[in-house]
Amino acid sequence: MNSRVDVAAADNGPDNGPDNAPDNGADNAPDNGLEVVIVVRCGCDSGRCGRRVGVVYAEGSRLTLVNDRGTAGQSAPPVPRQVIPADFQGSADLVACPGTRFWVPFTAFKEHYEGYLGSGRRRPVELRLGTGAACDPVTLVCGTRPELIKCGPLIRYFGERVSVIYTGQHYDSSMYDQILRDIARPGRFHELALGGTRRGRQLGAAIAAVDEILGGAPPAAVLVQGDTTSALAGALAANANNLPLVHVEAGLRSYDRAMPEEHNRVAIDHLSDLCCAPTELNRRNLLVEKVPAQRIVVTGNTVVEALRTAAPDSAARDGMLSRLGLAADGYVVATIHRPENVDDRHNLELILRELAALPLPVVVPAHPRMVRRVAEFGLAALLDGLRVVEPLAYPAFLALVSGAAVVVSDSGGIQEEVSVLKRPVVVVRRSTERPEIEGTFGTLVPPGPRIHQEVLRWLDDVPARRAQLAAIPSPYGDGSPSARIAAAVRRLVAPPVMSAPMVAAT
Ligand code: UDP
Repeated sequence: MNSRVDVAAADNGPDNGPDNAPDNGADNAPDNGLEVVIVVRCGCDSGRCGRRVGVVYAEGSRLTLVNDRGTAGQSAPPVPRQVIPADFQGSADLVACPGTRFWVPFTAFKEHYEGYLGSGRRRPVELRLGTGAACDPVTLVCGTRPELIKCGPLIRYFGERVSVIYTGQHYDSSMYDQILRDIARPGRFHELALGGTRRGRQLGAAIAAVDEILGGAPPAAVLVQGDTTSALAGALAANANNLPLVHVEAGLRSYDRAMPEEHNRVAIDHLSDLCCAPTELNRRNLLVEKVPAQRIVVTGNTVVEALRTAAPDSAARDGMLSRLGLAADGYVVATIHRPENVDDRHNLELILRELAALPLPVVVPAHPRMVRRVAEFGLAALLDGLRVVEPLAYPAFLALVSGAAVVVSDSGGIQEEVSVLKRPVVVVRRSTERPEIEGTFGTLVPPGPRIHQEVLRWLDDVPARRAQLAAIPSPYGDGSPSARIAAAVRRLVAPPVMSAPMVAAT
């Protein structure tokens, strides 16, 4: 079989901000072939090997591995993009390093194939490209409602090229069933049932289970989002498998060490090969901690895309409000679920009393954790003055928030969403990792009388305050974060082309 071997145009370089044009590297391949970079990466546990151990060249049906190892002091050979016919099928013996395991991501920009060499010194490998080829370039590890919501745009963007491992950290189906239906559950969806146990136990079980899946079918990269136990488990399992790790929503810091999530964020950021920071502030937080600049890309937050896709139009919103007997700007939405608020009887009681005393109807889509604690602490009577409803599907929840006069919440994601929906939020927390909205869309208050005071402040002259907020851009970006993240992932798994000539196949 004849094949052309080309060196492709240089990479577009780093993508540094939400306003940069999307990376076009994916679209450069000619139609008569697949533009691929074939890099062999070492999966050994010794820690001695670098990630990249060689480059595979394909000529005709011959594959040749040019090894990077054993060349101390010399720089690695260049990695060309090669154009291979779409129906390419070839096989060869690849000479591997003694005693190491290899996995080979064949990263094509139009199609994708992954092979696994297994252990040993000399292994046959078969490479098949074309539309029927297996493809699994990235694996996303997550386990909660907000992760599913925020990863929805990425899952859609990667399509068939993503597999998802859902740990079941949020195990109440009201928290994730509907979201999965909305984002179109991916074909490869591993659902684990690891929720409902202590944090340490859950973490250990999730690392072991994710490790097993990654070891069986190593992807080109592992993605985790945010700061949950599931995200940390995914990060550690990726690290244990020597797989490139991507942290979506990197660089958030509350500097509050009493928050388990703060430890998770710091650990994941420092384990990651690519930190996708939503804002410039997040990038600076990482730089202060000596995360190398080349590991960071500012992408905006995928929540903006998720929200734009899911938010119903104003007619649907008004219909929903009238079914609930609510008038736009005539009610408050409250969500409370964080351990510092609901696991502490005193704080939970203070918050519920403050909400019940507000002069407007208060709608509470109740998080299962709050419901459990209210029952355990014997506080059910305090719900009588509130309109408590089941957790809402994401579009319905967005409709509710977009018509609210004020939102009261301890949620992370809602702090971001109000900046797109242009509504004010009273954030009931000790600290926040999202200071970007402080003083504009949000005010941080502790449980207690300041909740009431702040809500009343926002209710004073609603139209004027609304007009003020409408003029403030969301700090979480306005573009296509998932395209930026995907472009950065491509650059991570397929290193930039160098200008040196092709190394001859031997
Ligand atoms: N949310 C939802 N339905 C609800 C309440 C919240 O879809 O009834 C969404 C909300 O819009 C946000 C996310 O759930 O995107 C927030 O989840 P949560 O507050 O549980 O977690 P956090 O953001 O604090 O991590």
